[in-house]
Amino acid sequence: MITRLSHLFLRTLRDDPADAEVPSHKLLVRAGYVRRIAPGVYSWLPLGLRTLRKVEDVVRAEMNAIGAQEISLPALLPREPYEATNRWTEYGDALFRLKDRKGQDYLLGPTHEELFALTVKGEYNSYKDLPVTLYQIQTKYRDEGRPRAGILRGREFVMKDSYSFDLDEDGLKKSYNAHREAYQKIFDRLGVKYVIVAATSGAMGGSASEEFLADSPVGEDTYVICRESGYAANVEAVVTAAPPEIAIEGQADAVVHDTPDTPTIATLVDWANTANVLGREATAADTLKNILVKLVYPDGKTELLGIGIPGDREVDEKRLEASVEPAEVALLDETDFKANPFLVKGYIGPKALQANGVRYLVDPRVVSGTSWITGADEPGKHYVGLVAGRDFTPDGTIEAAEVRDGDPSPDGRGVLEAARGIEIGHIFQLGQKYTDAFEVDVLGENGKPVRLTMGSYGVGVSRMVAVLAEQMHDEKGLRWPREVAPFDVHVVIANKDEGARAGAEQVAAELDSHGFEVLLDDRTASPGVKFKDAELLGMPYIVVVGRGWAEGKIELRDRFVGTAEELPADTAVTTVAARIR
Ligand code: ATP
Ligand code: MG
Ligand code: MG
Ligand code: MG
Repeated sequence: MITRLSHLFLRTLRDDPADAEVPSHKLLVRAGYVRRIAPGVYSWLPLGLRTLRKVEDVVRAEMNAIGAQEISLPALLPREPYEATNRWTEYGDALFRLKDRKGQDYLLGPTHEELFALTVKGEYNSYKDLPVTLYQIQTKYRDEGRPRAGILRGREFVMKDSYSFDLDEDGLKKSYNAHREAYQKIFDRLGVKYVIVAATSGAMGGSASEEFLADSPVGEDTYVICRESGYAANVEAVVTAAPPEIAIEGQADAVVHDTPDTPTIATLVDWANTANVLGREATAADTLKNILVKLVYPDGKTELLGIGIPGDREVDEKRLEASVEPAEVALLDETDFKANPFLVKGYIGPKALQANGVRYLVDPRVVSGTSWITGADEPGKHYVGLVAGRDFTPDGTIEAAEVRDGDPSPDGRGVLEAARGIEIGHIFQLGQKYTDAFEVDVLGENGKPVRLTMGSYGVGVSRMVAVLAEQMHDEKGLRWPREVAPFDVHVVIANKDEGARAGAEQVAAELDSHGFEVLLDDRTASPGVKFKDAELLGMPYIVVVGRGWAEGKIELRDRFVGTAEELPADTAVTTVAARIR
């Protein structure tokens, strides 16, 4: 079928949307692929929807290829199953909760482990039925604290989520590996550049887990990779053999306030805002959060206050200001700290603070920073300290802190390099967390019940559209690999001349008959406008039928290679067809 631009529901925009910071967001809006409805909530217009569907198709094909079966569960879900696993509470503010007219609690599904476990329990009861893997490609809802970059981090987004059910560990490992390979095929087919890194399982629970991170400077995940050994891990999951020496970067002496009274929260916040306790300028790479205040009263009594700053791992000056909101402050006794081994080393990490009853307002994923108070205990003075830098828990895990290039790899076989990525997939060996909660058992071969073991596996389908745009765009606009381009070829009528118009129609019709999806720019706009739009919209091939037509020539532009090639019109379509295939 030929789609005509004169009829396509599309308006391209000349200017970047005001709220867009990253290229994919700017371009997807300018090219009329998506439109914003609310923060993190977007409409898909025809071109965007075609690409989204194509990403889905690739994911679906590879899921089917490993024997996973597609089903569809509701997004509107009752509270009870999530209550049973405690996720109604644990999910926190990210869960969209609502009530029906009878006052019953509902939620909009952020991920569906509970429901899949219940679904399998409802249908299967014999070991003969296993293993089974089910999946869906469905809209998910998460009230993200910071919806970002258009569809990259939405509050409504499309995910492929699959769930495997096995009789034993070995089975789970097989299902996990099958998914791992399927994900590699999916991402290879899509042409995305990515790495697989060790991950923590976070809100899902369970043991082994890996993330697929697309290379991108705008990514919110930081990972480390050792080129020598291939070791790669999300910084949240780097496990070192032994807690290394603590290197505290940029530690300034604590800022001293000469106020004998107990400060109010507002005062503390003010101190936190104005004290450059970093000792240097904050950069976007900083992961600083925690402020520690040591109050030394005129009578010599001391108290320590921990202040958490709600925030994210990116800190810029604006955020530094904006992120310090009235925080929950808990008083602790210094002896508690003394009892803690961390203090002996002269620093206090967030875990230690938490263990001592300091509550943080930080996103638990990104808790980081090492708080440290320096300076003498002079009566009547208060000390405010804060450090950005690495933070190690006693078991040697780096808490989402910045790892700097050149650190030794935990496997001892080289050095680590730090890079940023966007999470495009995540695979988990969950084990029995959910099957225990719902007693998902089948009758085993020996007549005894067997508790199933479960894996869960997600791909960010809508996010992938943004990731591809992010990785593949150039300064002129979007560029899509053929697998997901809304159309294979974009034919531009670049001359008012009737002959050229008829020629373009003919070329388009022939390409169509070769099985290509053709977008034909048959508008009356000027050639300049049409070329600009063709570049912005991003089809991988552009065929220009214009002035040359009278001399039997057309032009083939390759959006990726950047070449423009003149072809004889009579054999053009076969040449184009051969080139594109
Ligand atoms: P992130 O770390 O980016 O917040 P996540 O770890 O919370 O993602 P998972 O629960 O592992 O996400 O969900 C599986 C996949 O769904 C992720 O790998 C990601 O590709 C996608 N995804 C998660 N949250 C969003 C979102 N808000 N918008 C778009 N895609 C998302
Ligand atoms: Mg998340
Ligand atoms: Mg994640
Ligand atoms: Mg994840």
